[in-house]
Amino acid sequence: MKKYDVIIIGAGSAGLGNSGVANTLGLKTLLIERNENHFGGDCTNFGCVPSKALIHIADHFYKAKASQQFGLDVSGKADMKSILKYIHSKQDYIRGTEDAAALRSQGIDVIIGSASFKDRNTVRVNAKDYSAKIILLCTGSTPRRLSIQGMEQVNVYTNENVFFDCKELPDHLVVIGGGAIGCELGQCFSRLGSKVTIVNRGARLLSKEPELVSNILEECFIKEGIAVINNAEVESFDSGSAFLKYKDGSRKSIPCDSTLIAAGRIVNTNGLALEKAGIQLTDRGRIKVNDYLQSTNKKVYVVGDAAGTYMFSHGAEKMVRMIWRNFLIPIAKHKNKWSDLSWVTFTDPQVAHFGLTQEMMHQKGIKYYRQDQDMSHDDRAIIQEYTYGRMSIWVDDTRSTKNKYILAGSMIAPNAGELIQELELAKHAKVPVHKLNDRVYPYPVATRINQKTIRGLMDKTITPFKKKMAKIAFRLFH
Ligand SMILES: Cc1cc2nc3c(=O)[nH]c(=O)nc-3n(C[C@H](O)[C@H](O)[C@H](O)COP(=O)(O)OP(=O)(O)OC[C@H]3O[C@@H](n4cnc5c(N)ncnc54)[C@H](O)[C@@H]3O)c2cc1C
Repeated sequence: MKKYDVIIIGAGSAGLGNSGVANTLGLKTLLIERNENHFGGDCTNFGCVPSKALIHIADHFYKAKASQQFGLDVSGKADMKSILKYIHSKQDYIRGTEDAAALRSQGIDVIIGSASFKDRNTVRVNAKDYSAKIILLCTGSTPRRLSIQGMEQVNVYTNENVFFDCKELPDHLVVIGGGAIGCELGQCFSRLGSKVTIVNRGARLLSKEPELVSNILEECFIKEGIAVINNAEVESFDSGSAFLKYKDGSRKSIPCDSTLIAAGRIVNTNGLALEKAGIQLTDRGRIKVNDYLQSTNKKVYVVGDAAGTYMFSHGAEKMVRMIWRNFLIPIAKHKNKWSDLSWVTFTDPQVAHFGLTQEMMHQKGIKYYRQDQDMSHDDRAIIQEYTYGRMSIWVDDTRSTKNKYILAGSMIAPNAGELIQELELAKHAKVPVHKLNDRVYPYPVATRINQKTIRGLMDKTITPFKKKMAKIAFRLFH
């Protein structure tokens, strides 16, 4: 049996990150991926990359149509075949830097095949056994499948086939799910020309975000012609219609020739024979891990979507950094914490968040002060018509106002994901808010809204006494 320092199962964001670090450290590393065409995992093949490429194209369509008010003549229809070709060309380019050949050339052993556990210490692939000091399970997640009556009568897509099989633009697309994937892809198809209805079981879109943010996004969607139906499920399909059932028991039918299922993700555990390795699952079918991502088998760690906590490519990156830090400095281990996490939903407007959510802060008993800022008087927002935008920051409530640290932030605005980054850096680097207030931002960069929010907070430090002292000082010297 061949022995390694580290065996990594799955070559998605988590697997590639882990194998890169292990290899850089000079460790004997084996990476196992079941599909030779899926290096890069969901992100490159079915997730971030194709969805962001589609968003980029849909944005062209939207802006071209919007330019008609200024005299541009626009006609024509989205050609899905050339759209898919564009998406695939970007995927091919990215995949080329992370496929089996590229990794082998860096010195990593790569095996193509489905891995499973033979016992607590042994991984079996292609009928051969391998062992290692540490085994990293990076097997990712897949879309939750739904079985709905009459489904065979419409085109059924998930993120796994939509970027390959959707060769004609749907006329009436019903998106099932009001989370990030449903919102991003639903808006894309609407902008390309489909009539889109998002059917959401929950009470609002993007349920993890503050309610106001969900409401603003829904208003923007409705303005663009996307129908949003909350508190409802698709009960059945027939050719040309989807039949909905609302939480209150009422029913309705809507036109539908295609459906995109974006109803959550399930962790990939199938075929791994986890029980043979003593790896237990939770009641929800996820792999049981402790705060350090260690499974119930002490030598097996779970990284990325497979850990079942937060499912982002950079979430996997964050976990990779944490576990390798802990492997190398085991006397002062770091925990896998949400407070260091950030995320962006790449709708237009984008929705961005970093740090704990307000609910989490409540649960943890963290004392915070929230400063809200709308964008109605922001010149850039006025010029570019996003005065609906909104941001909030949460600061620690235990220090004087000017020395407060940022705990979390949330923003909805075009490019919010980029705009909010400097505040996240301030949180990360523990920069007190007065330092951000002291800066002079070029006019009219969109990030001035960050400072405006901080200034709203700092205004509270201008007490009547301070004002009086300033007036006395002025009159004394002049
Ligand atoms: C539509 C969509 C859009 C997204 N957009 C974003 C975004 O903009 N930003 C962001 O940060 N995240 C985004 N995500 C999430 C992101 O894609 C995932 O969080 C990330 O890909 C998870 O990486 P992973 O390595 O944990 O798993 P995966 O990428 O799923 O990789 C797991 C790999 O393990 C392999 N595997 C599984 N079982 C075995 C086995 N038994 N043996 C061998 N190999 C196995 C699989 O073939 C796969 O290649 C998006 C997801 C979707 C679906």
